[in-house]
Amino acid sequence: MSELRHPPGTFDVLPPDSARWEAFAATFARVVEAAGYGLILTPTFEDVAVFKRVGESTDVVRKEMYDFEDKGGRHIALRPEVTASVARAFIQHRPALPWKTWYAGSNFRYERPQAGRYREFRQVGIEAFGTDDADLDVEVIALGWEFYRALGVNRVELQLNSLGDANCRPAYRELLLNYLRERRDDLCDDHKERLEENPLRVLDCKKEPCRDLVKAVPLQIDHLCDECSTHFARVRQGLDALGIDYTLAPLLVRGLDYYTRTTFEYTGLALESAQNGIGGGGRYDGLVAAMGGPQTPAVGFALGVDRTLLAAEAEGAVLGRQPGVDVFVVDFAGGEAARDLTAALRSAGIKADRAYDNRSAKAQFKAADRSGARFAIVVGPDEAVAGNVGIKDLQQGGDQSTIPAAGVVDEVRRRLGG
Ligand code: AMP
Repeated sequence: MSELRHPPGTFDVLPPDSARWEAFAATFARVVEAAGYGLILTPTFEDVAVFKRVGESTDVVRKEMYDFEDKGGRHIALRPEVTASVARAFIQHRPALPWKTWYAGSNFRYERPQAGRYREFRQVGIEAFGTDDADLDVEVIALGWEFYRALGVNRVELQLNSLGDANCRPAYRELLLNYLRERRDDLCDDHKERLEENPLRVLDCKKEPCRDLVKAVPLQIDHLCDECSTHFARVRQGLDALGIDYTLAPLLVRGLDYYTRTTFEYTGLALESAQNGIGGGGRYDGLVAAMGGPQTPAVGFALGVDRTLLAAEAEGAVLGRQPGVDVFVVDFAGGEAARDLTAALRSAGIKADRAYDNRSAKAQFKAADRSGARFAIVVGPDEAVAGNVGIKDLQQGGDQSTIPAAGVVDEVRRRLGG
């Protein structure tokens, strides 16, 4: 029988490396909860319609979705992103506005696996519903920015664009479509066929013919209506006021259809350019209505956890404490003391571990070293009889001292400095 392995495009994260993922989520929660965002949990799978409505013309929905019929005959999809689920939950529960949420979890896309591009990948994100105030766009962008700093990822470029709204986008779309129709022969094969469906997709097409062609296309930021133009100016002022540098990126449309007005992307400059998008987002004022809810403006972002961690690594940022225990109980008097002392230490809030199977003192000391514990509590037959234990500093060395077993918790606390 061949060895079982994880599926292509997925990976395992084992301790101690997993401490980086833990630190990521904890730091994110700290940053966004300080700005009034509350955790939302939604299902990892949804009725496929939740995602169909948000991106019929995108690769994420057309080609990459993990969808299937379940045993009850429902057409289900593993979520390729979280925003649509949060919008669905908003429509279903109608919380009071403004509604500010954050999430963390896995997404699934059937992509060609490569470094920084996986079939299961994790994202954290925030979504804020209920106002089109440009200051909220600034708040959202700034929180992502602040989070990267808090994580120690400093080489980040912020790219910013405005995609207009239901007022000015249709006219721009026509303008762009006409421009591209006249040059259809110069498009990549895919866009020759799909041009009419969504001409905006051409703007961020990675293929050479399209990239050449878009150098001179009409741009949405030059054709914004007055409201969108004022909104965009206010966003830019806000970022300037907060000292957040950005690059104008008039070709930035992002991979999902629902964005309006502000769109942005964070690029990890320490990463290879093919997969250096570490996060992105924008305003999606039309999404809730498009999904059958009341007209509700909203803005948010999603940051790629796995890829941001690659950026952190490339920048040499050290993330996460090494998981480990404070105390390791070495017991060669039968194991009862190890059982009882680890329980007592743990309930006193001291991290404690032990060996099992009555191993030799030598094997247990080896395990104690490997555990990273600061102290070994040593119980030999003589100590056990006298009601004592030995305590030894494994990191600073020195002699083992003998203390009463009943005083272990206090002694360890004292020595740990708490
Ligand atoms: P999106 O949901 O497409 O806007 O992506 C937001 C962020 O998620 C990107 O900037 C990436 O960091 C990350 N991301 C998207 N797709 C993948 C993937 N297949 N593998 C790893 N990270 C991804």
